[in-house]
Amino acid sequence: MNRYTAVDLHCHTNHSDGSLSPLELLARAEQQGVELLAITDHDEVSGVREAIAASATSSVRVISGIELSSVWNGVGIHIVGLNFDLDSPLLDEVLDYQRNARESRSLKIAERLGRIGAEDVLAGASAIARRKRGLPAGSDQIVQLGRPHFADYLVESGVVESREMAFRKYLGAGKPGDVKSHWPEMEVAIGWIKALGGTAVLAHPHHYKMTNTRLRKLLAAFVAGGGDAMEVVSGSLPRHKMPWFGSLCGEFGLSASAGSDFHAPIGPWCELGKLAPLPGECEPVWAQW
Ligand code: MN
Ligand code: MN
Ligand code: MN
Repeated sequence: MNRYTAVDLHCHTNHSDGSLSPLELLARAEQQGVELLAITDHDEVSGVREAIAASATSSVRVISGIELSSVWNGVGIHIVGLNFDLDSPLLDEVLDYQRNARESRSLKIAERLGRIGAEDVLAGASAIARRKRGLPAGSDQIVQLGRPHFADYLVESGVVESREMAFRKYLGAGKPGDVKSHWPEMEVAIGWIKALGGTAVLAHPHHYKMTNTRLRKLLAAFVAGGGDAMEVVSGSLPRHKMPWFGSLCGEFGLSASAGSDFHAPIGPWCELGKLAPLPGECEPVWAQW
């Protein structure tokens, strides 16, 4: 038997594109009865460090987590890294690499959105990200920019009416603002997690909208690259589809993970820690932790 029944191994704070601070997220996890929590901000661990420090006095066990952006065959793939060494010098190199990639990407997104008539995109999206972090308006602290910040800016500046529309027209897969060229290959991202002593998890496999044949190719490459697990219970995945992903884990010798992908209390996100159980035949990724 596992020690943990209430786990959430995928969620975000305002250190990436979530709305809660690490301490607010930790409090919410405790309130929801979560026993094991991984905060998986995009390409960033500053929120994890804060939450782990604060968790000494909490009923929630917080482990290290990150969601790395990568690319496989032209498709943007997210690799969640869990339970890795936060003190390794390699981690600083990984974070530097991803920050540079994200910065180049942000410039390109801003340039492309500029071409469709949006103005001062980079400054606008940065101001939104700073506001979400609770930083003063004049602050010049570097903050992480993701597509949601650009989407919110398109709404704020009147280019579109909603964030959903911003993604549908300009930022979603295949649209001008969907810039993937700067991210590392998926195998590189997996290799980083493994070299940090962590567990590499393929995030939300249903998001990639692949045919079963292509998904199997992705899984074969993921396994060949050293990947360990796949999210079988994921916030936006309908419950009736979970057994199918569970069976793929069996087929590819992967263990199974569970995470809400919680970003904010309001919105389309699944609530923190309110997850369906893993299908019975799955080996939980947290079994040995
Ligand atoms: Mn996100
Ligand atoms: Mn993701
Ligand atoms: Mn996520």
